[in-house]
Amino acid sequence: MIFHLKRVSILLSIFFFFLVLFLLFSHLNVLSYSDNTPPSIYMQFPKESEIVSGSICVKFTVIDKESRIESVLIRIDGELCDILAGDFKKKKALEYDLKLDTTKLSEGRHILTVSASSCNGNATTTKDTLFYVDNHPLNVEVILGGSNRVYPGSVLPLQCVLSEEVRDIRVEIMGYDIFLFTTDIGYEGFVPIRLAVEPEEVDMEVSLTDNLGESVNINKKILILPKGFESEYIVLPETKAEPIPKEVIEKEYQILLNELLSPSEVLYEKDGFIIPVEGKITSPYGTYRRFSNGVVSRHIGVDYSCPEGTEVKACGAGVVRLIDDFAIRGKFVLIDHGWGVYSLYNHLSDVLVDVGDIVSKGDVIGKVGSTGLATGPHLHWEVRVGRWAVDPLQWTDERIFANLH
Ligand SMILES: [Zn+2]
Repeated sequence: MIFHLKRVSILLSIFFFFLVLFLLFSHLNVLSYSDNTPPSIYMQFPKESEIVSGSICVKFTVIDKESRIESVLIRIDGELCDILAGDFKKKKALEYDLKLDTTKLSEGRHILTVSASSCNGNATTTKDTLFYVDNHPLNVEVILGGSNRVYPGSVLPLQCVLSEEVRDIRVEIMGYDIFLFTTDIGYEGFVPIRLAVEPEEVDMEVSLTDNLGESVNINKKILILPKGFESEYIVLPETKAEPIPKEVIEKEYQILLNELLSPSEVLYEKDGFIIPVEGKITSPYGTYRRFSNGVVSRHIGVDYSCPEGTEVKACGAGVVRLIDDFAIRGKFVLIDHGWGVYSLYNHLSDVLVDVGDIVSKGDVIGKVGSTGLATGPHLHWEVRVGRWAVDPLQWTDERIFANLH
């Protein structure tokens, strides 16, 4: 019996020895298994799209199935903004509501990073979540300036006043995009109404996308009024009666178009145009023309009859982009006034400027002649907005540039 009790007490001693050892080791965390499964992090933003504004509450849950959570670090764009450690330290799951005032963050893209470590320290989970701050909804005001009466060949100054920066903006009318330029109000430019359009109501579509992908589409109706254009029959001298081959016309147009489609971002002219010569108008803009050689066309500029050698002045400030000698235009000068507005002076006898020259309004740029397809000395003056030839006299009657910022 004594022997038996002795065995029991030895067994009990061994049992207590191991119990003490177990408690000691478990307190020191040595008995934890090597924790190969790091904590899991679940994050929930108030909106699914993760575009947020104002004060928000991001809920997240950290679960550690194998050991316990040691600490949770919260960062925004890499900057530590909160460390969670304390009461939950002994827990295997932590639920937390992160209060975030997004008005203190910049507009746009941010990264919220949550890192959770197990208490044995060798397993950490990091979870990044992209979110976008949008405290200013995209607002745009589309303003069309200039005259209320719009005809084929008219130009409307356009202002898109924006509440915030945009990633993309497009203004389209009658199948073509308008050149737009950044200013401190948003975007501005000129909307040309082509000469060869029917008088009718047309749509102008403004499409914008902000940096967060939010899109706004605005439709503006523009009523094009009918205008009575003149007609004329032109008898060509025998030396100029042969129609100019289409390939020549096309090749020359491409040279011109290259310049017309790469407008200067600098707005050189800020007011209106002057008439470049003293002379009588012999053929207004838009005239229907029939030539004695059978060619039919529209007149896309204004013709002034003046004696050979009359000084031709720049109608506005700008930079000389192109000087050439074309089959129809003869010797000509192309001036870029900025933002897609150009003026052309054709049939010159002399050119007095060079490509790249900056000219002021009224500077003499050449002399009247009858080079190219001309029946006598005259100046053909043309104004273009991008590829489209518009009515030059609108630019002398109205201070179109002054409509813009
Ligand atoms: Zn002409």
